[in-house]
Amino acid sequence: MENREIADRLDAMASLLELAEANPYSARAYRRAADTIRESPLPVAELVRAGSARQLRGIGPGIEARLRELIETGQIAELEELERELAPDLVALGRYLGLGAKRSIELARSLGVRTAAELREAATDGRLRTVPGIGSKTEARLLEALAREGQPRPRQGLLLNRARELVGGIAEALGGTPAGDVRRWRDACELLSVVCVAPEPAPVLARFAELPQIVTLLQRGARGAVGLTVEGVPVELVAVEPERYGTELVRATGSAAYVAALEPLPEAPTEIGVYRALRLPWCPPELREQPFAGEPPALARPEQIRGDLHCHSTWSDGRASIEEMARAAMQRGYEYLAICDHTPAVGAVRGLTPDDVRRQGEEIAAANQLLAPFRVLRGIECDILPDGRLDLPDDVLAELDWVQASVHGGQRMPRQAMTERVEEALRNPYVRCLSHPTGRYINRRPENALDLERVFEVALEHRVALEVNGLPLRLDLSGEHVREALAAGVQIVCSTDAHSILGLGNMTLSVATARRGWATAGDVMNTRPWSELRAERRNIGDHRSAR
Ligand SMILES: [Zn+2]
Ligand SMILES: [Zn+2]
Repeated sequence: MENREIADRLDAMASLLELAEANPYSARAYRRAADTIRESPLPVAELVRAGSARQLRGIGPGIEARLRELIETGQIAELEELERELAPDLVALGRYLGLGAKRSIELARSLGVRTAAELREAATDGRLRTVPGIGSKTEARLLEALAREGQPRPRQGLLLNRARELVGGIAEALGGTPAGDVRRWRDACELLSVVCVAPEPAPVLARFAELPQIVTLLQRGARGAVGLTVEGVPVELVAVEPERYGTELVRATGSAAYVAALEPLPEAPTEIGVYRALRLPWCPPELREQPFAGEPPALARPEQIRGDLHCHSTWSDGRASIEEMARAAMQRGYEYLAICDHTPAVGAVRGLTPDDVRRQGEEIAAANQLLAPFRVLRGIECDILPDGRLDLPDDVLAELDWVQASVHGGQRMPRQAMTERVEEALRNPYVRCLSHPTGRYINRRPENALDLERVFEVALEHRVALEVNGLPLRLDLSGEHVREALAAGVQIVCSTDAHSILGLGNMTLSVATARRGWATAGDVMNTRPWSELRAERRNIGDHRSAR
């Protein structure tokens, strides 16, 4: 059994414990263990067999016993039991309809139904309004959601990493291709879709319905189905004849507007075949957001990235040491890595004082001795204080190779004050890059009120780059803003803001987001060697006099 499968089972266990409203601590413990196992470079099944699973972080005796059971018998009895008890299909349907897990179970109990199909039947029979607390309004809303035609969507877009994992896992299990929003690398994915070649659709549809990720079917047709995850997220399966595979893949990948502009789509077994028949060059999925029928630019590619310029270490809130992060960066084929830990104003976590910065410099120098010609850069993620000053004095910043400036606290400032605050930071001669420029958290927190156009102007004038932060919750700048920044002539940097070795892998998300903004390698600063970036350092003299 592979690490990923083991981790998936533990995640399922955590979801069910959450559904059961069990001790929240145990659900979290299962999730943490799942993360550890997913990250582990060692084959966990072998560790379990050798009785040494507990050397992994977060694996105590309880979880170890479950792991042993899973490896030896292929299942976890408690998991199966929870699944029987909780009717995850019911909960999934309830969540899709906008009900909480507890409410769905209460509703099912009052109606005396045990499965999603029975719940649907009860609803269409008009029995919902017999349930205390369900008024005619709620009933109408539920019936409408049940009858929703066309493409079902989750109530909230899934973060890209979660969506990729979900759709990728389903595609792999069925031998299909991830399509929909995931293939366009959207920041919040609503249409989750897998396209499978299937001369005979029945077997693949049956396998889809049996997948552990899918707890019930929302719709089922001759050549397609929509399944629900336990979280109530709909996933579409398209089972297509081989000779029309390219056609359906194009249709399932592009946005509605993009596809509509190409219709009627010719029939072809491959995507290339479809574009050829349309007399168009193949279009990278990231650009299939708006109608576009031209020659696409040579978009930046992850393998062109030469280094990561924003990551953390145990000096602030990272989970790996400088040397561990650097070795992981080397394994990715990078030439350099900037360690950018926080400064004290960040508040929630430990920040580096000037003294810390200097001591960290010694550790970085030692790492460089060890790892040369790989280059660990002395960086900082320096807070921008509410008045626009930076959280470290200039003489400290002057020692560093790479300075990221970041707004963390005080994000609700009015637009003009926020814009002035950021502008002031960009004028600091040591700042090389503005981190997560808009400060959004996808689905949780909107963009800061900020005049981005003005920020681009000042960034261009002072030769400060703008970050495309690869954290799945941020993806900031977004693809649209990348396009605006590039049009303004500003350089971008693709960074991960990694807080662990695994976090360095989010470079693919950052680069994909840049690609959605039409970025070529020439637009992305860290496709170039450090010697060039270093030489670009701004002339410090012209700055002070300009103020
Ligand atoms: Zn930050
Ligand atoms: Zn950071």
